[in-house]
Amino acid sequence: MRNSTVWYPFTQHALEPAMRRVVRTEGAYLIDEHGAAILDAISSWWVITHGHRHPAIMEAIRMATETHDQIIFAEYTHAPAEDLARGLIEIAPPGLAHVFYSDSGSTAVEVALKMALGFFHNLGRPRNRICVLEHGYHGDTIGTMSAGERGVFNAPYAPLLFAVDRLPFPEPDQEQTTLDAFEAACATGEVAALLIEPLLLGAGGMKTYEPSVLAKLKRIAERHGSLLIADEVMTGWGRTGRLFACEQAGITPDILCTSKGLTGGALPLAATLCTAEIFEAHLSTDRRKTFFHSSSYTANPIACAAALANLAVWKEEPVRERIDALTEEQRRHVARFADDPRFSDTRQFGTIAALDLKVPAGGYLSEIGPRLRAFFRERRLLIRPLGNVIYLMPPYCVTADELDRAFGAIDEAASLFAAGRL
Ligand code: PMP
Repeated sequence: MRNSTVWYPFTQHALEPAMRRVVRTEGAYLIDEHGAAILDAISSWWVITHGHRHPAIMEAIRMATETHDQIIFAEYTHAPAEDLARGLIEIAPPGLAHVFYSDSGSTAVEVALKMALGFFHNLGRPRNRICVLEHGYHGDTIGTMSAGERGVFNAPYAPLLFAVDRLPFPEPDQEQTTLDAFEAACATGEVAALLIEPLLLGAGGMKTYEPSVLAKLKRIAERHGSLLIADEVMTGWGRTGRLFACEQAGITPDILCTSKGLTGGALPLAATLCTAEIFEAHLSTDRRKTFFHSSSYTANPIACAAALANLAVWKEEPVRERIDALTEEQRRHVARFADDPRFSDTRQFGTIAALDLKVPAGGYLSEIGPRLRAFFRERRLLIRPLGNVIYLMPPYCVTADELDRAFGAIDEAASLFAAGRL
């Protein structure tokens, strides 16, 4: 790996074993060049929702290539993007009215931050402060790194990152501290927006908090005229048990970011949804109030067609039933480990299960992470713990037997670790 031509993401080339070459994907599996089927228990970095190569989504992609490739998305438009925007508004929390396309979770969040600042700027009442939640993760671009938790991931770039106000994570029974901190920040009148992962912090360690906290944060924001940006890049498309996590708190954010499962995970696409007020603040005969954001591949028609097919899958297939069944299985498995001394904490939220292995030193760089990965890899399981946090976020086509196998391996890994053999 030391002299690989490809520079892989989140990969220490001096330490990692050779990449496993995947030649095909199918349902919950990656098939490697030797024919081994590897259970994709983390949905390939959380993107695959229904399963790999869902036939309806693949067919929509094939069809779209008959008529479209990339076209410029200013001055010219296309039906897949228009239809998708209408479809998204229909299923999103009520009150969101406009859809801005980009191509990754990070850019969806960057767009959201620019919308928020542009909103206040165009109203002639500039606000420049952004509040975020401790342990948050919003992407790896400079803006999203600024908003995310600081640490080993972004230390070299710290001098370039902008300052944000960090609210303490709403730990159980400590929620008021978070609410008070947000109230105090808002009272300055300078907070443009609170950027937050609703109910579940993904890369921060699958940490959950109560829906009521999100609802209260929204009310505080409203009282002070600040915006709430929901980063649903990970939580969207059913992961938490509902289509969007915000639904569980009964709120409509002012801005909602979605990507990953938007195309069922098949192609890169992102959307930032916003309210009419935000769109209208950019409407003017003064060209300086234009929303100046684009990227070459904005609203790629083939990706939009894949997303439209994904919407149809949600309408026509029993996706919610699959999610409920998966949620139940995850709950059953996690309950078995609830009082297990090998784990310091266990959590289940919708389709996601997380177990914190009890280690002397946790955290992302905990040495146990790579050892666990190797252990799972040998067992043909794609599981990439976040340090000592072992989690499963499988596609919804995963079967009970496949989950049994994954949890069996977690059980075995925990025993080996406790015995000092891993
Ligand atoms: N926001 C959240 C909550 C995420 O989990 C991620 C990616 N894991 C991102 C943003 C960034 O998405 P992308 O990797 O597609 O840029």
